[in-house]
Amino acid sequence: MEVMKFGGTSVGTPQRMKEVSELITRSGKPTFVVLSAMSGTTNTLIEIADYLYKKNPEGANEVINNLERKYLGHLDELYSTEEYKQKTKDFILEECNYLRSFTKDLFTSFEEKAIVAQGEFISTNMVVNYLLEKGIKAVLLNSLDFMRTDKNAEPDLQFIRTKLNAVLAENSGYQIYIAQGFVCKNAYDEIDNLQRGGSDYTASLVGAAINAEEIQIWTDIDGMHNNDPRVVDNTEAVRQLNFEEASELAYFGAKILHPTCVQPAKYSGIPVRLKNTMEPDAEGTIINNELVRGKIKAVAAKDKITAIKIKSSRMLGASGFLRKVFEIFESYQTPIDMITTSEVGVSMTIESVTHLEEIVTELKKYGTVTVDSDMCIICVVGDLDWNNIGFETIATDAMKNIPVRMISYGGSNYNISFLIKESDKKAALQSLSNQLFKH
Ligand code: ASP
Ligand code: MG
Repeated sequence: MEVMKFGGTSVGTPQRMKEVSELITRSGKPTFVVLSAMSGTTNTLIEIADYLYKKNPEGANEVINNLERKYLGHLDELYSTEEYKQKTKDFILEECNYLRSFTKDLFTSFEEKAIVAQGEFISTNMVVNYLLEKGIKAVLLNSLDFMRTDKNAEPDLQFIRTKLNAVLAENSGYQIYIAQGFVCKNAYDEIDNLQRGGSDYTASLVGAAINAEEIQIWTDIDGMHNNDPRVVDNTEAVRQLNFEEASELAYFGAKILHPTCVQPAKYSGIPVRLKNTMEPDAEGTIINNELVRGKIKAVAAKDKITAIKIKSSRMLGASGFLRKVFEIFESYQTPIDMITTSEVGVSMTIESVTHLEEIVTELKKYGTVTVDSDMCIICVVGDLDWNNIGFETIATDAMKNIPVRMISYGGSNYNISFLIKESDKKAALQSLSNQLFKH
C-alpha cells in the first residue's frame, strides 16, 4: 500500500478537496491517505484555546461561530446530494458544539490539545464523505486509535504498528483509508499531537508501521530544487536525495521534511516522495537510502546569520576550552549551527540573536570576541565523502570572487558549507549553480 499525505493548502478549499480525491483514487489501488486540517484551521483552534486560557468565553464563541459559518459555507460546493450535505453539516455542528462545550469548564493544556485536534477530524470527515458520495469504497479511521507517543513524548512505533495493523485487518477490502495527520494519544491516554506541521510525521510513521511501498508527501511545489528558485534562474527539481542529504538541507528550510519526521521511513527503508498537487504527473523528488556516488545534488542558503569569533592564546593546547564556550551558548538556549576552529580561535554561527549581548559578555571572560552580522550560510549537499577528490575544490572555486568568512567541511560526508556576507548570496548561489549544475 502507498501512503499519500496532503497538507493544509492541498485540502484548503472544496475545489482542492475534490482534486485530492481525484489524485488518491486514480491508481485504483488501495491507498492510505493522511490529511491535515484545512489551511488556517489549526491557527484558529489555537486562537480559540487562547481566549479560553484568558477566560474570555465570548471571544472564543465568536471565533467558533465564524469557523462554523465558514465550514457550513463549503457544503454546497463540495457535495451534490442533500444526504451528504446534511450528513456533513450534522458533523460540523456537532464538532462546533464540542468546541463550545469547553467554554464552560476549567481550561488546561489537556483541553487545548483536544481543541487543536479537531481541524483534522473535520477535514478527514469532509473528504471521506465526498468519496462515499461518489461511490468509492473509502473508510475513515480514527488516528487516536493507533497513533501514540510514549513517556518521552516520542512516537511509539511498536504500539502504532500493532494497533494500526489490527485496525486495517478489521477494515479490510477498502480502496481508500483516510486518517487524521498530527493527532495522537500520549502515554497517559490523553489527546495529544505531533507538534505543528506534524502530519508529515504521521505519514512517515504510518508508512513505517504498515511497511508501505512509498510515502508520498504532496505539497504545492515540485519537490526540492537544486538551488533557491527565488534567487537563481533556471533551478531544477532534484530527482533523488539520500536521507542524509535531505537532513542536511532541512535546516535551510528548503521546503523539505524535518529530519525527525523522515526518521521512521529512513529506518524502515521506505522511500519518501515529494509530489506537487499542481503538477501531479511530475516525478517530484524521491528521498531514499540510495547514495549516488560522486554527485552534488543541491545548494541552499540561510540568511540572517551571526558569526561570533573568540580568540584566545589560552585555547592553545588547553582541554575544556570549547566546553566552556559551548556551555555559554547552552545556558542561553542558543543553538550553534556552524563551527570552525584554529589552534587559537574558534568561530561559530547562530541564528537567534535574542541573547547575543549576554553571550558576548560572558565569552569575553575567555578571549577576544568579534561579531559579524548579516551573514549567510551557503550549503552544498551531495556525495562529499572526503575520499572523493575534486568536489570540494569545485565548490570553493565557485567562491573565488567572494569573500568567505568560514568554511566547514568534513562534519558529515554530505556537506560543505561556506559563511559569506548576505549581500554576496546571490552571486555565490549563481556561481555555484554555474559550476556544479552546468550541463
Ligand atoms: N494541522 C497541523 C498544523 O497546522 C498539522 C499539519 O498541518 O501538519 O500544524
Ligand atoms: Mg505542513
